[in-house]
Amino acid sequence: MVQRVGIVGAGLMGSGIAEVAAKSGADVLVWELKQEALDAGKERIEKSLAKAVERGKLSAEDRDATLSRLSYTTNLEDFADREMVMEAIVENEKIKKDVFAQLDEIVEDKTAPLCSNTSSLPIQTIASATKNPERVLGLHFFNPVPVLPLVEVIPALTTSEEAVEKAQTFATEKMGKTAIRAKDRSGFIVNFLLVPYMLSAIRMVEQGVATAEDIDTGMKLGAAHPMGPLTLADMVGLDTCAFIADVMFEEFGDPTYSCPPLLRRMVQAGHFGRKSGKGFYEY
Ligand code: NAD
Repeated sequence: MVQRVGIVGAGLMGSGIAEVAAKSGADVLVWELKQEALDAGKERIEKSLAKAVERGKLSAEDRDATLSRLSYTTNLEDFADREMVMEAIVENEKIKKDVFAQLDEIVEDKTAPLCSNTSSLPIQTIASATKNPERVLGLHFFNPVPVLPLVEVIPALTTSEEAVEKAQTFATEKMGKTAIRAKDRSGFIVNFLLVPYMLSAIRMVEQGVATAEDIDTGMKLGAAHPMGPLTLADMVGLDTCAFIADVMFEEFGDPTYSCPPLLRRMVQAGHFGRKSGKGFYEY
């Protein structure tokens, strides 16, 4: 079983993945490009662990042991001895390809899986930026990583079954996630269903069919969803929703995935949802 893992990026997702991996007993090295971002990621992990202790979900001893398994760096060369890497940096194809090309050179064990948490980029384009594309795959976690139990496992056409098995075993048996497997198609499984659902709800608001509140109430009380599609879109971030819609529309050319003008205008107005204080609701 993999023991030494590297996490590339300590933003929202990277810090969550690092936290869960370290809690599971792995030796976790976290990388960020800039010291400031690295410090912010470290603080996010420490706060999340402190909260888990406060809520009685983690003992103080386990928190201390988890913290002792985490180390931090701004030097990617330090990943030479890693047995597996999980990347969660900004959703930008060029930047991810650059980082994977570097990782492929740096990580000495050429069978060590290099995994991307990308939500929308083809795993194949990332894999093709390396000399060992058989070890590159998608490992797509859900936000917040310490809470949501799912991981999507996405082999590219070139990925070896050995790399997939190694990464999936770590994510399930060590990190305790439930894995589902999808082909390397935009949206994988969850977003393929969820994104057009949120876009349909936005089109309903746009066309004046119903208010955001009534649509959300409908899906909560009529379909037993924990939250409605517009609350969910605000939580995901409206800019993120528009970005993923554009990528899926480009992939499939199907109007189901096209970004509704209302969503585009809200993003242009800086109404990103919960994170900006305004979306379909005020926060
Ligand atoms: P984030 O903005 O919180 O973190 C991104 C990190 O990338 C930041 O820490 C930033 O310092 C770093 N970064 C920025 N520019 C960089 C560069 N040029 N080189 C290297 N690093 C750079 O984003 P996030 O929400 O954690 O998303 C990270 C990845 O996870 C993305 O690929 C995203 O699609 C995916 N993802 C996000 C969610 C979600 O709900 N937020 C869910 C699943 C997957």
